[in-house]
Amino acid sequence: MASIDLSGKKGVVFGVANQRSIAWAISKALISSGAELAFTYLNDRMKGPVEKTVADLDDPLLVECDATDAAQVKNVYEQAAARLGKVDIVVHCIAFADRDDLGGNFSGVSQQGFSTALVTSAYSLIPVTAEAVPYMPEEGGSVVTLSFDAASRVYPGYNIMGTAKAALENEVGQLASEFGPKGVRVNAISAGPLATLSARSIPGFNTMRKAFEERSPLGRNITHEEVANTALFLLSDLSSGITGTVIPVDAGYTAMGI
Ligand code: NAD
Repeated sequence: MASIDLSGKKGVVFGVANQRSIAWAISKALISSGAELAFTYLNDRMKGPVEKTVADLDDPLLVECDATDAAQVKNVYEQAAARLGKVDIVVHCIAFADRDDLGGNFSGVSQQGFSTALVTSAYSLIPVTAEAVPYMPEEGGSVVTLSFDAASRVYPGYNIMGTAKAALENEVGQLASEFGPKGVRVNAISAGPLATLSARSIPGFNTMRKAFEERSPLGRNITHEEVANTALFLLSDLSSGITGTVIPVDAGYTAMGI
């Protein structure tokens, strides 16, 4: 684990579902570097698994939040600021598409399915970033979200989620531009395929893992810890000159032509 000192830093993490969540890998890296975190869970059904995941921590704040609802996001930060005093760090690891809209023909997506995927996976970054800013200290803060290479290339089966990731990556630049003058940095990590709850519902996920292993310069898939270490860097002052960008953590896969 890289040694970065985040003692005194406070963060809010959106998107822990269980021990395999990328958000949890990032949380562990942040905590071991000294940050104190609050967590959200999507709904009653997710509360138990999230409580179980964070069980070893010292009574962290857990707040229910559907991040497509700006009022619920605002409530998260009000509670986080009351408990932690401020918010320096925000982790956005949220995505969802209806199962019917993953796999099959991309053009089969309904307007409702398009909306669900885009609002949950892309729009949510807007309130998650904007509502945090009032609670950030004068020197600013750092926001990290998670993208995938399907934002700019076709991965059959990923379908509407690719469109959502394209929107998400565009928002990273726009939010970085808007909040940069307040010292707030917004970046994305474009991660290679990792086995998580969400990944299970992506048709062709195993084909993706195989392709990354066979074709990436490093000849393997990435690990949760590699994404977490990059997030740690982006959420720390070590990356103070970096904002509005998307950093691939993909064993070099996207560097390759053939
Ligand atoms: P995960 O299933 O562990 O996490 C997804 C989270 O999104 C869950 O905690 C879920 O509760 C939350 N969520 C869904 N709808 C929500 C809503 N309306 N409001 C608040 N939270 C909501 O899976 P993961 O793979 O860790 O996904 C985290 C992020 O990483 C996603 O953006 C995903 O697209 C991205 N990503 C994943 C991979 C991969 O291969 N696993 C690769 C690149 C990017």
